[in-house]
Amino acid sequence: MATTATPAPQSTAPQKQGPHFPDQVTGMYILARALKNIGIENVYGLVGIPITEAAYLIQGQGIRFVGFRHEQQAGMAAATEGFLTKKPGVLMTVSSLGFMNGLTATANATVNCYPMIQISGASDPTMVDMNMGTYEQLDQFNTAKPVVKAAFRCSHAKDIPSAVARAYRAAVSGRPGGVYIDMTTPALGEIMDRDEAEKLLYQPVDLYSPVAPNSEAVDRAVEILTSAKRPAILLGKGAAYAQVDDKIKTLIEKYNIPYFPMSMAKGLMPDDGPLSALSCRSTIMKEADVVMIIGARLNWLLSFGKGKWNPAIKFVQLDVDPEEMDVNVPIAAPVVGDMGLALDAILSRMQGKSMAAAPAWLASLQAETKTKAAKFAARIDQTKSLMPMHHWTALGVIKPILAANPDVILINEGANTLDDTRDAISMSLPRHRVDCATWAIMGMGMGSMIGAAVATGKSVVAIEGDSAFGFSGMDFSTACRFKLPVTVVIFNNGGIYNGVGVPLDKTDDPAPTTLDIHARYDKLGEAFGAQTYYVQTPDELSKALTESIASKKPCLIDVQLAADSGKESGHIGYLNPAPLQDITV
Ligand code: ADP
Ligand code: MG
Repeated sequence: MATTATPAPQSTAPQKQGPHFPDQVTGMYILARALKNIGIENVYGLVGIPITEAAYLIQGQGIRFVGFRHEQQAGMAAATEGFLTKKPGVLMTVSSLGFMNGLTATANATVNCYPMIQISGASDPTMVDMNMGTYEQLDQFNTAKPVVKAAFRCSHAKDIPSAVARAYRAAVSGRPGGVYIDMTTPALGEIMDRDEAEKLLYQPVDLYSPVAPNSEAVDRAVEILTSAKRPAILLGKGAAYAQVDDKIKTLIEKYNIPYFPMSMAKGLMPDDGPLSALSCRSTIMKEADVVMIIGARLNWLLSFGKGKWNPAIKFVQLDVDPEEMDVNVPIAAPVVGDMGLALDAILSRMQGKSMAAAPAWLASLQAETKTKAAKFAARIDQTKSLMPMHHWTALGVIKPILAANPDVILINEGANTLDDTRDAISMSLPRHRVDCATWAIMGMGMGSMIGAAVATGKSVVAIEGDSAFGFSGMDFSTACRFKLPVTVVIFNNGGIYNGVGVPLDKTDDPAPTTLDIHARYDKLGEAFGAQTYYVQTPDELSKALTESIASKKPCLIDVQLAADSGKESGHIGYLNPAPLQDITV
């Protein structure tokens, strides 16, 4: 890989500058001090030239350094810490390929509005610019720029504290996102007087400065919302991120407005609450006359706000980013600003006002919710005794266990494993579900699981498709080394979507979608000293998951499913250019 063997710890220890040159420090030391000074508690990364010593120095500052096996997973961990804490997660990578691997996660963070900072070692830019063929030569700064919110290049040690502070501010301000710092080898190795270096550190004022929406925007929004006959509130992960749970609850409960959450907003209001219209999404799209969107985007996940939506609908949209307004459809009442301040203003403007909503609207959504709930229950019942188990068989077992452990954070990725878990598992607390989100990518599972456990100290359960797990499986070993309270549940149906793909040509090779229905993922966990289980029945699964959560130790459960459980692309098969059965050779 990109990292070359590094010298043994004794020769790389921070004291290198200490005994011999007590009054001098390197850029690496300044970086460690700058991160500490701004309040960074965890750094996720993978060391090698030129950042190994910097990682030791970071640890020396009392910052937790979580060393991964793949940079992408370290980045997913940093992004998840950012989402859960509202403070940027920090990723450290080596130059060239390590940088590129990490950048995948930083780009994904930017798309999902998670604040994070990727700090990457980089070769001397004067040599890169002259194409001199230096070690791991890559113009990382310009490679990162198009996929991040902001980018800085440090060529001098004295610039490091300012780069860190500005990166922090950029990551959390306005729409949060990923920020890149190109930490060049000359800057990392530069020597400064200790006193001079300490003077560079400063406390930035007001690192997150919320901006309030203007009062006309608030008036307009309240006017439209209160006059709605069939209103609904759509909660997105921006609402969860903003940590304004009480304000959202007040708005919904005081004015009796039905709500439906996007997947990572689940639990902001309880999925099973009396105003939850979680299972009435299509009805709301078709029939609501006003939908207030709180921290969500009318992107592909919401049919771009048209087509399936009532053509006469009026959208009220609360978002920190003015450029989000009118993206796919005109927004009748844009409310641009920080979510907390926007909700304060709306709630205060609504004082003494009542909603014009027809009582029949809420009653019909509640009736529909009841019917749908019965349907889901029947589905669990019908699949209960399928052997080998299907997705819903396993989820029927997991559902009550997670309901009894509401403070467990759920990480979820896969195709059918994602869609079915989202539908089956109710959430009752905010910011307790992290999934593959806006890009619907695979390969966030182990990183997000580790980031969630490190950032919150809570227990985490990751429900993973067998394919999804493959992208990040090796980093289960990281969870083991750091002794985290995590449980990985792998739904093995032997393939991408399922394990019954048939090659279109006569070949002994597996079909493109086929993995291994007989794989024993539990053995992989054993290699790293985890508690592991291989389960074939609902009873075995129930026992394994209950024990795993209670143990607060790294556990891995390989759940044997049927190879024909699951369909191509899960719930989004319509996005394929053509269904597989229509492909001709
Ligand atoms: P979902 O996938 O759940 O629909 P998105 O990630 O698409 O959520 O949308 C989240 C939205 O929330 C983004 O448009 C983002 O600008 C907005 N947002 C994020 N943080 C805040 C905040 N603190 N205040 C207001 N809006 C925010
Ligand atoms: Mg699968």
